Amino acid sequence: MRIDNDPKLDFDDVLIRPKRSEAPSRASVQLEREYSFLSGGGTWRGVPIVAANMDTTGTLAMARALGPPMLTCLHKYYSEDVLVDFFRDEARGRSAFFTVGLKDDEFDKLAAVKRKARVPMVCVDAANGYTKYFVERVKRVRDAFPETTVMAGNVATPDMVQELLISGAADVVKIGIGPGSVCTTRRVTGVGYPQLSAIIECADAAHGLRGHVCADGGCRFPGDVVKAFAAGADFVMLGGMLAGCDECEGEWVEEDGRRVALRFHGMSSREALDKYAGGRRDYRACEGRAVSVPYKGPVLETMGEIAGGLRSACAYVGATQLKDLSKCTTFVLCNRPHGSMFE
Ligand code: 5GP
Repeated sequence: MRIDNDPKLDFDDVLIRPKRSEAPSRASVQLEREYSFLSGGGTWRGVPIVAANMDTTGTLAMARALGPPMLTCLHKYYSEDVLVDFFRDEARGRSAFFTVGLKDDEFDKLAAVKRKARVPMVCVDAANGYTKYFVERVKRVRDAFPETTVMAGNVATPDMVQELLISGAADVVKIGIGPGSVCTTRRVTGVGYPQLSAIIECADAAHGLRGHVCADGGCRFPGDVVKAFAAGADFVMLGGMLAGCDECEGEWVEEDGRRVALRFHGMSSREALDKYAGGRRDYRACEGRAVSVPYKGPVLETMGEIAGGLRSACAYVGATQLKDLSKCTTFVLCNRPHGSMFE
């Protein structure tokens, strides 16, 4: 056993110091970014915010509402036919990731959809991206589909970012172990990594190899999205902040025929395991929970607030484009209580 004495930070531990600058007007701040992918080739241009591939938020309606310019990581429970129809229609843009997990039938479904439609972006997703088997699965997707943009995760440390970029030949590594709004991994297993530090350290490792990172989990307010980009994230993935928007699927609570709340559950919660995996296996614990989130209206309203926060932050630190936010940022440490969006 050893103890790492370096301080590790979460979003709540920092604020961004405002800077004297020729402040650009908020309206002129450019939120679009363009990325070139080394392994899969090609480029992507857009606003790098991604709806999470949870069964509530990673929906076709979300993808149609957000993209382009934003992205959705579709959940993996749609049928082959539905996905073929979606990706055929979607041919104009690169706005949705196809999600594949570790199971062979998921890989087979990806291959089947790929035979019938263009699927330019794939997310290889596992709760624990630290296994050799996971790296092999990412490599299998890369080998089978050399010209696809591959996002892989989740991990939270530079060693595994490098492993996934080099051995797995991923283009984007998804960062986050335990920060999610409906995640209980830290409570159940004691494992995790403070998300702001994870982003800073993993972005540094990825950028050194011309790879990219997607910060996944823990954003509760627009300011957290700002901090994730300021820490060096190339993409930021959102679950809880989008839960309750019109484009979500799931169990709505209605009053007088109007939506008032959505049941939002972690993908490793008892609810999700009952729904998709025939219940929790004896040997494993649930690492997610379910909450009710208030109805929020159209997702573009929520995204408008996030975009407004990003533009304003860029103006405060003198960045004319989102691309410059990280290099214009000085974080100041502050001690504020940690809390979940739903507590
Ligand atoms: P949020 O934006 O809600 O804070 O975080 C979303 C992320 O939480 C998802 O993209 C996924 O990585 C993670 N997540 C979703 N469900 C679960 C779960 O049941 N357990 C854990 N450990 N993480 C989850």
